[in-house]
Amino acid sequence: MPETKFRSFRVEAVVLRHSDYGEADRLLTLFTRQLGKIRALAKGARKIASRKAGHIEPFTYVRLQLAKGRDMLLITQADTVDGYQPLREDLILTSQAAYVLELLDRFSYEEEAESSAIFRVLTDTLARLAAKNDPWLVTRYYEMRLLDYLGFRPQLFECANCGREIKPEDQFFSFSAGGVICPRCGQGLRNVHTISIEALKYLRHFQRSSYADATRARPDPDVQKETEVLMQGYFTYLLERELNTPGFLKRIKS
Ligand SMILES: [Zn+2]
Repeated sequence: MPETKFRSFRVEAVVLRHSDYGEADRLLTLFTRQLGKIRALAKGARKIASRKAGHIEPFTYVRLQLAKGRDMLLITQADTVDGYQPLREDLILTSQAAYVLELLDRFSYEEEAESSAIFRVLTDTLARLAAKNDPWLVTRYYEMRLLDYLGFRPQLFECANCGREIKPEDQFFSFSAGGVICPRCGQGLRNVHTISIEALKYLRHFQRSSYADATRARPDPDVQKETEVLMQGYFTYLLERELNTPGFLKRIKS
């Protein structure tokens, strides 16, 4: 349970997922502005007449009153701020939103240092998807912000091996080095991935631009696919590495 001074307190949260608990209850995994990721119990939420139930579906932005129970946080009141309704009505948007939540769920912990900034980019991203902004752009922009806030900002302007400035030509990308590797260093290296100068251009653009500026990007479908595959590979690599570190094990035990 997070350390808080009060027995009862309010948080703003996005519901990441929920699972059945006991006879009639629901256990929620939430990302909160104030405390990062937490879990809390909604008692009686599976009863048909429950007033809380509608507010605590995944993808919902809610204001919650929480109380400290004996060994768990309890939800005593729930009000919806935004249900992002369009995300529930279109399968493609539903799967995009599910990816956004899952990425955060897998990479975040209680007491996340940047929880307020992450919460903001999360709610902005869900709102952009619900407003039917280009899902490719919304998702890539979100991934890049998330890497920043979680401390995995990739190096895209200098070679992650020799430190030389990256020239406008096709490059390599190394998950373990956390960035671009110049052609000179990358030749013959194992476990590096090719990255076209076009794809690199968009990743750089997203890394240093506001969302409004990022929306001017219009890459062709091949480049979209290339950046998507590369970023997902990088996230998968980071996740597997995290799973094997003592720090991670300590965090999930505590
Ligand atoms: Zn180099």
